[in-house]
Amino acid sequence: MAQDKKKVVVIGSGPGGSGVAALLQARGYQVTLLDRNEFYGGKCWSFTRDGYVVDSGVHMFSMGVSGQFGDINRMVRGDLEWLTANPSEHLLLDGKYRLNLYQSLTDPRAMFSNLRTNMQIAKDMIAEKAGRGGLSKELDREVYRAAKKNSPLETLRAVAKIALLNPSYLVELDEITLQEFLHRITDEWLPLQGLAALSMLLTVVPYSEVSAGEYLWCFANAFRKQTLGVPRGGSREIPGAFLRAFQRDGGELRLGSEVARINIRDGKARGVFTTGGEQIDADIVISNAGIKRTLEMAGEEHFPADYVSYVKKLKYSCSFITTKYGLDRRVVDLPAPGFFNVPAVDPDHMFDYIEEGGVPEDPFLFTPFPSEWDPYAAPSGKQLIICGVPGPIEVTKDNVAQCERILDRAEERLLEIFPQMANHIEWKMRTHIAHTAAITGKPTGECIGLAQCVGQTGVHKPTPWTPVKDLWLVGTDAGARGVGTEQAGGSAIYVANLLS
Ligand SMILES: Cc1cc2nc3c(=O)[nH]c(=O)nc-3n(C[C@H](O)[C@H](O)[C@H](O)COP(=O)(O)OP(=O)(O)OC[C@H]3O[C@@H](n4cnc5c(N)ncnc54)[C@H](O)[C@@H]3O)c2cc1C
Repeated sequence: MAQDKKKVVVIGSGPGGSGVAALLQARGYQVTLLDRNEFYGGKCWSFTRDGYVVDSGVHMFSMGVSGQFGDINRMVRGDLEWLTANPSEHLLLDGKYRLNLYQSLTDPRAMFSNLRTNMQIAKDMIAEKAGRGGLSKELDREVYRAAKKNSPLETLRAVAKIALLNPSYLVELDEITLQEFLHRITDEWLPLQGLAALSMLLTVVPYSEVSAGEYLWCFANAFRKQTLGVPRGGSREIPGAFLRAFQRDGGELRLGSEVARINIRDGKARGVFTTGGEQIDADIVISNAGIKRTLEMAGEEHFPADYVSYVKKLKYSCSFITTKYGLDRRVVDLPAPGFFNVPAVDPDHMFDYIEEGGVPEDPFLFTPFPSEWDPYAAPSGKQLIICGVPGPIEVTKDNVAQCERILDRAEERLLEIFPQMANHIEWKMRTHIAHTAAITGKPTGECIGLAQCVGQTGVHKPTPWTPVKDLWLVGTDAGARGVGTEQAGGSAIYVANLLS
């Protein structure tokens, strides 16, 4: 009977909030979902401009249909559809080597299509080593370095454990950085540049900070599932599909409804107060607003002091800032619908410019071509290109100015690589930290949420349950592993399972 249903209020309609709302509504709860924006989806949102479907950020989804979103969609009987491609990425390495990345690392097509580049890389490496004082000297050094590192057998064992996603091994690797882990295997710049860039792509944390366990979980899963892709209709279709199922099942969605305060009585969450002064009662409150904002809304006085100080010390990921280009015709033709410029710089210092307030000499460019994934992302015959580059997060005057300079440099580099774009730009627009912060209502514009750095992943990750009874967290800050939106999806499944 309807009056017996437990009432749930979910604060925020990001992928985590919309996912958990749909799952709980489907499982017999009576859910009200509130979002401060007039649109749904949080940072996973897209909008229409002149017939283009434009991502508010710059998204690709590492596991697509086989990941957490595929699972939620099946559980709520949603209508989410996925698009994949093979090869999925085209890489420019060291400013000169072009490589196609396939969904599977062992795809035989990769061997053929990259044969010439791989031979060139090997040839250049040998020539470089010979130039640096002869192969034998270099070999001596390699042997010396290898003696201090993993033996080849240890390395092979490590690779096998990673491929099998051995949980105990990942827990162990949560305690060291990816940089530390990789330097046990190699000091060669080229592979390290690729992996440092990939760390920024998968976690938006420099590889000198990211937890090796978290990164390898994301990396191994992406290649194991082989369904990296995008949803048909743009990134908004992920929360969109969940919310259509949610409303079909009787859930109540209220957009433009901001929560000012979480109502805590006798140590229990009992509902929320909106900024409009409305009181909404509930048996359970689930917050998708991020762990720090949730504490503010509930009032620190309701939590143990050590929890408050733990939460205050948690660090955020870096940002991704973007320029979107609507082109009047399809001028860039690549083998894959996504392009990366992997910086030709010292991998250990690739992203130092972010903290230093500087501009990258050779920027890492994460450049999906949405209209190559999905022709409906641009009007017929036209092309949409979105170029993302990592940046700082605090929304200050200096950081906003730094973002503009980074985006200037990113555009310069993009047009060096694809000069044919220059005369066909119908419109372009930038989004940076101030735009991201305006979506979430925070003073920071981090890309992901909490940083997946050493000390904040695996057993160190905040749990979805809080010390306040019936107050839960969902989203990237709560409980799960994975790439960006997908860990928010994993968190939604985790919370729904714990509650039902
Ligand atoms: C530029 C950019 C590029 C990205 N690229 C990728 C990518 O390629 N792949 C990927 O997987 N991820 C990517 N991400 C990250 C991804 O978008 C986020 O990690 C994900 O959206 C976080 O999901 P979430 O559910 O935790 O919360 P969010 O998406 O942050 O949503 C939180 C919601 O809570 C609402 N809210 C907050 N406070 C209140 C309140 N008081 N009352 C009511 N509502 C409130 C907000 O309005 C918002 O809708 C990118 C993000 C950005 C910005």
